[in-house]
Amino acid sequence: MTARTTLALLAALAAAPAAAEEAPRRPNIVFIFADDHAYQAVSAYKDPRNLLETPNLDRVAREGVRFDRCLVPNSICGPSRAVVLTGTYNHVNGFHNNSNSRFDASQTTFPRLLQAAGYQTAVVGKWHLGTQPVGFDYWNVLPGQGIYYAPDMIEMGVKSRHEGYVTDVITDVSLDWLKKRDKSRPFLLMAHHKATHRPWSPPVRLLGFDGDRTYPEPPTLFDDYSGRGLAERDQDMTIARTMTPNDTKTNDFQERFTPDERQAWDAYYGPRNEAFRKADLKGEALVRWKYNRYMHDYLACAKAIDENVGRILKYLDDEGLTENTIVVYASDQGFYLGEHGWFDKRWIFEESLRTPFLLRWPGVVKPGTTEPRIVSTLDFAPTLLEAAGVAIPPEIQGRSLVPLLRGQPPKDWRTSFYYQYFEYPVWHRVRPHHGVVTDRYKLVRFDGPDLDAWELFDLREDPRELRNVYDEPARQPVVAELKRELQRLREELKVPATFPRSVYGDAPFPKVEP
Ligand code: CA
Repeated sequence: MTARTTLALLAALAAAPAAAEEAPRRPNIVFIFADDHAYQAVSAYKDPRNLLETPNLDRVAREGVRFDRCLVPNSICGPSRAVVLTGTYNHVNGFHNNSNSRFDASQTTFPRLLQAAGYQTAVVGKWHLGTQPVGFDYWNVLPGQGIYYAPDMIEMGVKSRHEGYVTDVITDVSLDWLKKRDKSRPFLLMAHHKATHRPWSPPVRLLGFDGDRTYPEPPTLFDDYSGRGLAERDQDMTIARTMTPNDTKTNDFQERFTPDERQAWDAYYGPRNEAFRKADLKGEALVRWKYNRYMHDYLACAKAIDENVGRILKYLDDEGLTENTIVVYASDQGFYLGEHGWFDKRWIFEESLRTPFLLRWPGVVKPGTTEPRIVSTLDFAPTLLEAAGVAIPPEIQGRSLVPLLRGQPPKDWRTSFYYQYFEYPVWHRVRPHHGVVTDRYKLVRFDGPDLDAWELFDLREDPRELRNVYDEPARQPVVAELKRELQRLREELKVPATFPRSVYGDAPFPKVEP
């Protein structure tokens, strides 16, 4: 090659960026989705209890945007996953509860549209929608809820057992797929974790990670539910009454342990459980002990997610993919970490209504942004479609966040949000309800088979949601205004006036004392 032809070649290469600017490369998408991961357990959200450091998740927030009010339309696993895939509410996508719902895989989903537009698509980990994934070039998912140790997975219809801890396994399989992908095309990887779902089994490497810390308590750990109605008093999701010996690992706890894992597990829990039995705790002291055991186990599961997010981020760095890859981290809903004395989710109240949502998109999102506006898991599908240059189908009920990501929020961005929860009475006896949420208020209507009641909460005066002010005379103008807004949202979202019995699940309704 002569010097002249080398120069000609260099000149041609130098011209390439101009061509690339005309048709920008479509971004890759890494969508990491946890199960039941509370924002209180992501250090980027700065919970006052300072429960856990999550440096890798915090990196996504620091290099991207932290959404502070990402709301879910129905705070429970399967329904929330159906929302993410379709960008529609559960009365539209047909997946109302975890009991008898099955996802109609013939509907339009955003992965399917991305696949049709030339993206390589993969989903790895928790699926939990009753039917097989559609719209993915590669899928390898946990059957049902999946288990924490040596999980079975179904790879393109074929079941096999994977040694190791589920969060590590899901990341291993995700990275293997990334390494084998066709590098000439953009990709969507959905890595869906089982963690931090009950029974909160930590990896043995993290047992005792907290040095037997005594955790700060939420101010409402001993909530007596006064100031609210039957629904809050009669639920079955308290640390005090509902949390089992299996949840606290004080039984003969079983996972698919190897002999070494069993030994490490017993070496950690054995002496602590022995001391617990000797102490014979009662009342508040027992609740405090259970709360601390819950925090150790739950937070160790969350820490394992953070470590594995770090592995994915490192792969993107090492492969030079960071600059052209959108990274999303979110959970299917929030979770109670002792607030109101509870674990679990389901309610319209903040801890379960809000979900953590972090997004990094270099060159588009200004690093270190925080976004206070009401957004939703409904918005994920239209956002990722627009980011990929794919048209957003009109049936989608969410709205693309791309203008917000670009720092150009539309003037008519939503200021109210519709919520609805169905599954009853199993699990946890949370009464079906729907409601409207604004920056300041929540108007809730319990509308299930055995309760018809309204509640109003003023988050400015009562951020912990302890006082139903629906009947206060001074609130009646606000009540009327919120009822109008609720009706407007229900019409806009085409919510049926009544629902069939099946939306609550298959479990019989309990008899309620008059
Ligand atoms: Ca969940």
